[in-house]
Amino acid sequence: MKQTEREILILTCEHASNKLPAAFKSAVPAEVLKTHRAYDIGAAQVFRKLVKFAKPEFYCEGKYSRLFVDLNRTITNKSAFSEYYEQLDKATASKVKAQATAYWSEYRAAIEKFVDSALKPKTRAAKSEPEIVHLGIHSFTPELNGKVRNTDIGILYDPSRPQECELAQVIKDEIKRLYPAMKVRFNYPYKGTSDGLTTTLRKKFGSRYVGIEIEINQKFFL
Ligand SMILES: [Zn+2]
Repeated sequence: MKQTEREILILTCEHASNKLPAAFKSAVPAEVLKTHRAYDIGAAQVFRKLVKFAKPEFYCEGKYSRLFVDLNRTITNKSAFSEYYEQLDKATASKVKAQATAYWSEYRAAIEKFVDSALKPKTRAAKSEPEIVHLGIHSFTPELNGKVRNTDIGILYDPSRPQECELAQVIKDEIKRLYPAMKVRFNYPYKGTSDGLTTTLRKKFGSRYVGIEIEINQKFFL
């Protein structure tokens, strides 16, 4: 008989901050830092409320802008580093990139270390294996390239993974129960399988890792 699996909740917010480290400050105009290019407007507020409410066993949030380095991209993905690196001379750019890479690695390593140890069997007699449920909290700009996005909340997951399909549906139903007028869409405005933190963790930890990203329309915060 299959035992009920213990679910271990983790919450993360990669694009929480629009801060820049001192070495990168001169590269980005101050007005850009106020925009969705620099961070997920409103995501940190929602994330911190969820942390208080849901008391996850592990949580973390980015402390620098994604223009410094995008924590939700593989470090070898060209888009991990923004075009603002071109504002620096070559030597400075490579020094700052090294600093950004170290920061990225530290962030990713902390999450992977927790998941790895949480999934290790504590005793040989353990009848059920725990499962990680990871919610990544993000937000998206209400208008991109002149097109208005008329979705309120997007739920991103990998449609080939049954547990993620199931959990995405549960989250959607719960949002609709609480807020019937909310427009909720699956895998919008991005695909859950694009390069990102959840995609990396799925590959690394397999079916005992369940990763969902919640994308909230920034119109609620602007
Ligand atoms: Zn984001």
